[in-house]
Order: sequence, then C-alpha cells, then structure tokens
Amino acid sequence: MSDDTLKPCPFCGCPASTHRDSLPIGCYGFAYKTGCVVCGIFVSVRFGEYETNEVEDKCRLESIKRWNKRKGGDE
Ligand SMILES: [Zn+2]
Repeated sequence: MSDDTLKPCPFCGCPASTHRDSLPIGCYGFAYKTGCVVCGIFVSVRFGEYETNEVEDKCRLESIKRWNKRKGGDE
C-alpha cells in the first residue's frame, strides 16, 4: 500500500477523501482534512511552515496517515 492510499471510513465503509482546508486569514502554511463526508468525520492537519509544494505534500500525507491510523488492528 502506498503512502497516500486512504482506508475507507471505519464507521460506514464509504471511501474517504482528502481536501485542502482553508486557513484563517493571516496564517501561513497548509491545512488538509481527510475523512468521510457521509459521517462528517475528519482529521485535520495544519503545517504552518512555508508555502511550498513540498510542504503541501507533507501536510497532505500526514493528514492521510492520521486518518489511516484511526482504523488500526483490524486487517
Ligand atoms: Zn463514514
């Protein structure tokens, strides 16, 4: 499984998705939300560093990693 493969929602089994989230005005960095739109459950990650593609990628992957950790131990 590659790093950015999302596990399905642990509650309803629907595919999860990742979205870029907006930051408060005046904040730097990136925010990403990964989760289930059906259940409305998300994990949010915010990287307040520089706004480069590399940082954005890290932020996205961290958000995915945290989501995938929610569903541990059953497969
Ligand atoms: Zn769900």
